[in-house]
Formats: sequence, structure tokens, C-alpha cells
Amino acid sequence: MEIANKVFIVTGGASGLGAGTVRMLVENGAKVVIADVQDAPGEALAKELGQRYVHCDVTQEADGKNAVAAARELGTLFGLVNCAGVAPAAKIVGKNGAHPLDLFQKVVSINLIGSFNMMRLAAEAMSANSPEPTGERGVMINTASVAAFDGQIGQAAYAASKAGVAGMTLPIARDLAKTGIRCMTIAPGIFGTPMIFGMPQEVQDSLAASIPFPARLGRPEDYAKLVQSIITNDMLNGETIRLDGAIRMPP
Ligand code: NAD
Repeated sequence: MEIANKVFIVTGGASGLGAGTVRMLVENGAKVVIADVQDAPGEALAKELGQRYVHCDVTQEADGKNAVAAARELGTLFGLVNCAGVAPAAKIVGKNGAHPLDLFQKVVSINLIGSFNMMRLAAEAMSANSPEPTGERGVMINTASVAAFDGQIGQAAYAASKAGVAGMTLPIARDLAKTGIRCMTIAPGIFGTPMIFGMPQEVQDSLAASIPFPARLGRPEDYAKLVQSIITNDMLNGETIRLDGAIRMPP
């Protein structure tokens, strides 16, 4: 599939991996709806790149519908990249007692159910597209994490949410196969984004050094390159790909 002139929604597009993806898509001639809850940076990026920003909490059905409607105003919605996510840590039993149930529910609600909410709405719109010569009608890319496979202490909610994202990828791809819509998931390792920049510098340095190769934090461009490959290679479907420099996280 060609990227030029296609319309994409990028959730979490105001920051980090999502913003890197927005830049890659625009450089390749796409039109992009940046869907996020951080309005100021989202609007600033949209203005800089001449794209559209929509306030969209991915957990809200109405917000998801607004993002899809905004995309359809720009043309035919062909792609969804789900980057919205949160990663708060909490131990099962900590200083203040048991892991807060509402925190677990919030993380699963944004990372897993929010991704699903956007996919079902995007897929509904894409299924009405005229097919490409290949039969393709669209592509959806989620963001899991290596925590889905080797989650660390404190990451129970995050790991569960991301394992759910990885887990729903194949059944959704199979479900939509006859419609010509692909579904893929990327599981990033450790990337230099605001999610990581909040950590002390020495922690960031030791995380970077623990990546076997290339022994540096991942960059939004590294993630965006894989998104580009997935969009343009229609044999990639139903898979979760680790993008992690061969790191396996310790407990
Ligand atoms: P980030 O904090 O820079 O970006 C996340 C974005 O999601 C923010 O713009 C935030 O406003 C948005 N967001 C949060 N809740 C939202 C909601 N309810 N609705 C819409 N938008 C919402 O972090 P990032 O590192 O770019 O993370 C992007 C994705 O990559 C996340 O899903 C994260 O879990 C995943 N990930 C990141 C890393 C890493 O090392 N940075 C590693 C593995 C996975």
C-alpha cells in the first residue's frame, strides 16, 4: 500500500512514538488526524505539519467517533496507529497496602480497551472503502510492549494490558481478513520518550547500556520506520513484532 494521500489516525500522536509516526506519515505524503488528550502539544504539532488535531480520549466511544469523522473529512480513512498509552507502576502489596484496583482498571481501560475501541470504529469505517488493487482496505497497528512478555516488578497492570493488545491482534486480523483490513502490533523495548525521560538520568543510561545492540535507547524514528514497513508490506498481518535491540527485561 502506498502511504501518499492516504488518511491515518494516530492516537497518542501528540508525543513520543505517536508524534514520530505522525512525522513519518506526513513526510510520506499522508494526511493525519492526531488524536490525543494533550491538547496543547497536539495542536502545536498539527499546526507545524499542517494536519488536524482532535481531542480524543481513546476510552470514550464518542471521542473515537469524532476522530473517525475528522479523518473522513480529510478523505478515505486507511490507517490507524494506536500509540496512546500510560505506564504507571505499582507493586501488588506496597507501602500503602494492596495494589489500587482503580489504577489497574485505568491502565487496562486506556491501553487495552482504548486500543480496541479505536480499532472497532476504524475498522467499521475502513470496511466501506473501495479496495486497493491488492484487495486491501486498510491497516491497523497497535503498540504493545516487551512488558507483555517479560514484565517487571510493578508492571502487573501495564503488562496485562499490553499482553491483551498482543493477544487480540491475531483474532482481529483473522476476523477482518476477508474485508482486506490488516492488524499488526509492535512491542517496543525501551524508547527515549517522555514516558522514559521522567526517570533519573543514571537509570536511563543503564537502561540504554542494557540493550545488547545498538546499546542506545530506541528513537521514535526507529518505531516509525517499522510502522512504515508494516503499512507498505501487506504480507505482515496478525503478528506482534518485538522492536527492542534483543533486550530481555530482568525481574
Ligand atoms: P508518551 O507518554 O510520550 O506518549 C503517550 C501519549 O498517549 C501521550 O501523548 C498521552 O497524552 C497519550 N494518551 C494517554 N492517555 C490517553 C487517552 N486516554 N486517550 C488518548 N491519548 C492518551 O509515551 P510513548 O513512549 O510515546 O508511548 C507510546 C506507546 O508506546 C504507549 O502505548 C506505550 O505504552 C508504548 N511503549 C513505550 C515504550 C517506551 O519505552 N517509551 C516502551 C514500550 C511501549
